[in-house]
Amino acid sequence: MSRFTDKIAVVTGAAQGIGAATAHRLAEEGAAIAVVDLSADRAQATVDAITARGGKARAYGCDVSDYGAVEATFEQIVADFGTLHILVNNAGITRDNLFFKMPKSDWDTVLAVNLTSAYNCSQVAQRYLTRQRYGKIVSLSSRSALGNRGQANYAAAKAGIQGLTATLAIELGPFNINVNAVAPGYIATPMTAATAERVGSDAEEHQRLAAERTPLRRVGQPEEVASVVAFLASEDASYVSGQTLYINGGAR
Ligand code: NAD
Repeated sequence: MSRFTDKIAVVTGAAQGIGAATAHRLAEEGAAIAVVDLSADRAQATVDAITARGGKARAYGCDVSDYGAVEATFEQIVADFGTLHILVNNAGITRDNLFFKMPKSDWDTVLAVNLTSAYNCSQVAQRYLTRQRYGKIVSLSSRSALGNRGQANYAAAKAGIQGLTATLAIELGPFNINVNAVAPGYIATPMTAATAERVGSDAEEHQRLAAERTPLRRVGQPEEVASVVAFLASEDASYVSGQTLYINGGAR
């Protein structure tokens, strides 16, 4: 199956976890990938793995919370690949704390990396997408958008992604641009492993407890998010826009 032949995809935060799995999935189906992460060195492992399997990819270092850096990076991507068709706003971080002791700096950082980054990348990307009257934007929300103890900053950012998505779908739809989001539950990645470590649990035990709370009785894998992102970025979802799709094993 080659749903993305001749398509250029930018995936942010693609050095590891869900971003790396998404980069691999899109590349396997024919897309050339701009692998964006905090440094080009971090992104290079994903690029090497894609090219080793015969795919096409390049690494870019960019802090996606910095508008100027995003502009410069996208200019470079377009210079290297000619254009872009697909943007996956995946980069994200957590700085969990109960609200009463959450430092303002952690609020600001989480909003900047999880939400403002999507504003930055989507706004810069739409300059190119509207011109060619074709584009797909898929952003990472989270089940935490519905509320999660210790994640006021992250929940607010991920709920913001849903509002941004619904609005961009309205504004960019006339330019043949589909804008959607996915909202994963517990996915086994370095992010959730770090959360486990922070609360003094090992990753396996942390996952076991999350699995118990999940109707499918297991946690998700990055590839199970990547396949849904790929669906939303493909023509299989050509009449889907403005939606947030939960990927959480049936949990409410
Ligand atoms: P991860 O921590 O494993 O990977 C995130 C990547 O983003 C890292 O490579 C990191 O270097 C990069 N990154 C961080 N800040 C950046 C910045 N300012 N600029 C560029 N790159 C940056 O995380 P993950 O679990 O793979 O999560 C990916 C996305 O999915 C995030 O948006 C996360 O909030 C979301 N998500 C994850 C889960 C989960 O359970 N893992 C659930 C719901 C949503």
